[in-house]
Amino acid sequence: MKPAIADGHVVTIHYRLTLDDGSVADQSFGGEPMPYLHGSQNIVPGLERQLAGKKIGDKLEVVVPANEGYGEYDPAAEQTVPKSQFPPNVELTVGMAFQTRGRNGQTMPVYVRAVKDDQVTVTANHPLAGQRLNFTIEVVDVRRATADEKKHGHAHGPGGHHHH
Ligand code: ZN
Repeated sequence: MKPAIADGHVVTIHYRLTLDDGSVADQSFGGEPMPYLHGSQNIVPGLERQLAGKKIGDKLEVVVPANEGYGEYDPAAEQTVPKSQFPPNVELTVGMAFQTRGRNGQTMPVYVRAVKDDQVTVTANHPLAGQRLNFTIEVVDVRRATADEKKHGHAHGPGGHHHH
């Protein structure tokens, strides 16, 4: 019997993410499918929720509202800082992500929103915040996670362990 997608499974999917303006933001079709650990918030919550119960070979269209995707856009989460606060050897481009420390010392990602002269506007909003996400999904594989994968909270590739 084919296992159905549930928490504690490593699921491999092909995906295409299309925005409401018709542009393709990201996709795996034509390349390697993406493995993730179901139930560990490796993917946006609305997609994870709607993949539960699906099986190998299933093809589906999944529409995820912004609040279950990358969040609503928060204009207050923007800040403009001097370029000198960034590493000198990095060419800053819009959408680039950096880790910063929040008020309580926790790390949080910020994204470059604009670069003007020696000023950089960064935002805590994900580049896809405020967007409805339209996914085309093909479930390629579903298997039980190993003990290591469960402990780490992410999928390991073929041939065992790999870390970023
Ligand atoms: Zn690991």
